[in-house]
Amino acid sequence: MVDLAAPRSPGPRHWYVVSRVEFKDIVAYWQKKEDESGLAVDWSEAHERCWRCAYKARLEKCHIIPDSLGGTATPDNFVLLCGRCHREAPNHANPRYMWVWLRATCLPFNDMYWTNRGQEEFETMFGRTPLDWADALDLDAGALQAEFNTLLRTEFSRAVIHFGEGRMNPSTIACVLAEVELQLAAQHDVAITNSEAGYAGARFIRKMLGQTDTP
Ligand SMILES: [Zn+2]
Repeated sequence: MVDLAAPRSPGPRHWYVVSRVEFKDIVAYWQKKEDESGLAVDWSEAHERCWRCAYKARLEKCHIIPDSLGGTATPDNFVLLCGRCHREAPNHANPRYMWVWLRATCLPFNDMYWTNRGQEEFETMFGRTPLDWADALDLDAGALQAEFNTLLRTEFSRAVIHFGEGRMNPSTIACVLAEVELQLAAQHDVAITNSEAGYAGARFIRKMLGQTDTP
């Protein structure tokens, strides 16, 4: 099977090149070209919020076409992303993919993106959504939320933000959710079972290897 993420050598890689283009030039250019519908940010905030995760963060100029593939250091070839989103952005010669990716992977709510990524990581790790058992409890949603938030504050003290990262990463958020959920379930005498077989994440690999797709 082909390792799709293998280093390409001696092929081109994407290097960060310092450019003098200012954020306001990039925003002004794209404001005229791209409709903000389906994007994470309004153009009025695009100079201070990441165009993908919509968090207020120190923004970086991200090449649309990598400079090593002929992309220029001009406003038409940049979008503004936080460091974490920059590292996940496509490095491809076809510039349209950047906009497909931005629209497909963003959330149209401020400050929710990384929480949502943590929830997705939970689903991959445990094969179900967090608190999927809670509906059957017939509890007041507000009371459950309050219990959840109390436990969350304690559980956050058992996790850290990795050095150099500004925020907790999705897998750590998933672990925090798992711990909170276990305690919440115990408080309500609910037995929860987690599939820890890594089924969801391994499904694609198994398919590529031609193995039977069994949970
Ligand atoms: Zn971001």
